[in-house]
Amino acid sequence: MQQVAVLGATGSIGSSALDVLARHPDRLRASVLSAGGNVEALLSLCRQHRPDHAVIADPDGYAALRDGLREAGLPTQAHAGMPALAELAAGDACTTVVAAIVGAAGLDSTLAAARAGKRLLLANKESLVLAGELLMAAARDGGATVVPIDSEHNAIFQCLPGNAATTGVRRIVLTASGGPFRGRSRAQLAAVTPAQAVAHPKWSMGPKISVDSATLMNKGLEVIEAHHLFGLPGDRLDVLVHPQSLVHSLVEFVDGSTLAQLGLPDMRTALAVGFGWPQRLDSGVPGLDLLAHGALEFEPPDTEAFPCLRLAYAALAAGGTAAATLNAANEVAVSAFLQGRVAFLSIPALVEDALAALPPTAAESLDALRAADARAREYTQRRLLRQATA
Ligand code: NAD
Ligand code: MG
Repeated sequence: MQQVAVLGATGSIGSSALDVLARHPDRLRASVLSAGGNVEALLSLCRQHRPDHAVIADPDGYAALRDGLREAGLPTQAHAGMPALAELAAGDACTTVVAAIVGAAGLDSTLAAARAGKRLLLANKESLVLAGELLMAAARDGGATVVPIDSEHNAIFQCLPGNAATTGVRRIVLTASGGPFRGRSRAQLAAVTPAQAVAHPKWSMGPKISVDSATLMNKGLEVIEAHHLFGLPGDRLDVLVHPQSLVHSLVEFVDGSTLAQLGLPDMRTALAVGFGWPQRLDSGVPGLDLLAHGALEFEPPDTEAFPCLRLAYAALAAGGTAAATLNAANEVAVSAFLQGRVAFLSIPALVEDALAALPPTAAESLDALRAADARAREYTQRRLLRQATA
């Protein structure tokens, strides 16, 4: 029986993970559930799944969580704060960790699970962008089984021999839906609203990744993610826009073969691969009926209108702390956009500005990466204040 910690259980990936888990009571059990700040949503999941531990990241939520669990007559132990989360992810409370917190906030618990040698279903791509080398080294040293839970990387994982070996691979092609604004020019993006940006045509996801998909920063983060997971340099990681989102990525080999994984755009497939691999589990996702879908289209990405993709490639090439800077500036900019404080086009502008102002240094330690993350957040916040008062 896998004892599963779902970190970020109240989110989009978290609820898909719990949906798959509930289909296999004979082999999967939720033993730890966590949420950022929504105590009510976490309590409702606890009533449903009866985990051993529940963690609310916001320390102010502790009393409400503890009292709510008691009132519901549940045996679940209440915890609060990020250190508790990392401790539970690393300890005996779980064998499997679904890392589904959004943003760099997920780094500590993801790293803890990797070091402790868990089966790690890794959705929290920002932790790989921020500290990919250290995270992959921790997983290797700890003996963790990392299964990427990003549809593209999960597809590549399924296509690579032994799920990792890239001998004989010429290049990897990440597919991108193009997001809600595909086909628009830069000028047509000036006035788009947060509501329009989060209305993704193919995937139902949390607000941050939805905005990232609209700017194409999501694909940029995924290029960096793929570099760390599969070890290829940026010039062998290509991006192809595929609006139907049925081909989830492709691996091209030196002999001219290309392998791809196809399926409906539903993250439960990737999660079932994560829970079951190398076995296949029912995910609740129907099979793909290609006759029902019509043509599959492909086109190059437009980096003129969507410069975030180009910025991510540049950060990967620059190396060191550049990707940490890119990620942190983007998190701050996306949050400001979602709050209606800046325009859509300010997101790439703020990221480009941070990358230019904060030259990369060596990323030899976690401290150096955290410092770069903090510097970029502070810098971007200051730029925002200046914009607001200008
Ligand atoms: P979401 O916003 O729906 O959920 C995020 C979860 O993290 C929630 O449970 C929230 O309570 C928790 N959380 C937020 N801030 C936190 C903090 N500071 N500390 C602790 N917990 C916190 O996001 P999502 O769409 O489920 O995405 C989660 C991760 O998975 C992201 O890194 C995203 O890039 C990645 N991902 C998501 C999808 C998708 O289809 N949603 C696909 C691929 C990758
Ligand atoms: Mg993806």
